[in-house]
Amino acid sequence: MTDEHTTTFEELGLSPSITKTLGQLGYDTPTPIQEQCIPLILKGHDIMGLAQTGTGKTAAFGLPLIENLISVGKKPEPKTCRALILAPTRELANQINANLRAYVRHSHLRVQVVVGGASINVQARNLAPGCDILVATPGRLLDLIERKAVSLNHVKYLVLDEADQMLDLGFIVPLKKIAKMLAVPRTTLLFSATMPKQINDLAGAYLNDPVRVQVSPPGKAADKITQSVHHISNRSKADLLKELLTAKGEGLSLVFARTKHGAEKLKRHLVERGFEAESIHGNKSQNQRERAIKAFKAGKAQILVATDVAARGIDISGVTHVFNYDLPEVAEAYVHRIGRTARAGAEGQAVAFCSPDEIHLLQAIEKLMAIKITVASGEAPPAGYKPEKKTRGGAPKGQGRKRSGGGQGHRGRRSVAELGSPKKDGKQGAGDGQPKAKNKKRARQGKRFKVADPNGGPSRWARGEKRKSKVA
Ligand code: AMP
Repeated sequence: MTDEHTTTFEELGLSPSITKTLGQLGYDTPTPIQEQCIPLILKGHDIMGLAQTGTGKTAAFGLPLIENLISVGKKPEPKTCRALILAPTRELANQINANLRAYVRHSHLRVQVVVGGASINVQARNLAPGCDILVATPGRLLDLIERKAVSLNHVKYLVLDEADQMLDLGFIVPLKKIAKMLAVPRTTLLFSATMPKQINDLAGAYLNDPVRVQVSPPGKAADKITQSVHHISNRSKADLLKELLTAKGEGLSLVFARTKHGAEKLKRHLVERGFEAESIHGNKSQNQRERAIKAFKAGKAQILVATDVAARGIDISGVTHVFNYDLPEVAEAYVHRIGRTARAGAEGQAVAFCSPDEIHLLQAIEKLMAIKITVASGEAPPAGYKPEKKTRGGAPKGQGRKRSGGGQGHRGRRSVAELGSPKKDGKQGAGDGQPKAKNKKRARQGKRFKVADPNGGPSRWARGEKRKSKVA
């Protein structure tokens, strides 16, 4: 993807059967993360791999894994697998599966995927003969293990893609269960573009004498993303979005809203105003989610309104703009969201909308990325600005809650921008991958807390741990 790297895939230790396939896929030279990781994984090292979004992490772990598995030379036993790749969302798991299938197409290796929202019986049938690589979201994998459709005691390689999210509250409980079932010793590979300090410490429990491969500081955006921010009221966001979407011309736009409800309302609003838009979030069925992504990829809908289910890993070429209609509650999510553009060396624009009550979120993002985002319009609230306290209904104190059919100035309806704003308590809904702050506190205290399924399934109870424990 870049000119400076002249090392070839052969020189990294991959065999001709794989490099031939890579040539056919247009992978001429390894990317920096591939160049560093492939030889280490071939030698059997555990890895913590950190690189910017869209720089080829899937092949960085996938290719050496395939090389190692080809050299085993015998078939996997029924209902077993040799390598397990866990990802936080169904879309990402499906995408990894598609990439790996392309890489193994001239080999005897079998790759399978299991994710929620698809037929579990079909997945159980697919697993019956055994497979070399299994890509999974944790919840569905545990269901299949419970049904005895697959066992993990032959798994010699564990990959956590988007590792910081996999090790965070929403996934840590199923992950611990799964980790205990794997073969010992095993190779463990963790990959992400972001790695908050406290998660980094947790990761140590899963790794054995790891090599840290870091091609850029964690949290750094891809080089060719131009970032800007509009300081704007919540009420004016929808109009500005329509203006910018109209002005920008051809190319796909991904618009991130904070809540499922807000994303759906915004999509509907755009469609009513003549824009071709789709939406993806945890309240949609898997079929609807797949259809939306397909229409977006094909350019039939040039706009996809999404929650953080689409923030990580999704690789869609042609995304020229990412709009952060609402800023994310967790700064790392911003890095992943904007990473949906400027992939594989392309250029992209990341446009953020920041209302006065989101200024602390913008500051956290700028701190994480160690940059100042260029102001495209409006002015940041003065230093020390405190947003007005909200009542339970979400409206500033003294105004009361605006309801359909009542209230002045809104003609009985809350604006789309307001509907896209935070939940009643002003905090992030965990349903799309970000744990609530209060859960983190309860977990640290060793108390029970509720964890929403980032894929939209039912919530679960989990218990926090006061101390870090070593995982098998
Ligand atoms: P990933 O970060 O794994 O999602 O990859 C981002 C994009 O880069 C995907 O479209 C890959 O197919 C593509 N890609 C990965 N490695 C290479 C390579 N060595 N040469 C060209 N394209 C690549």
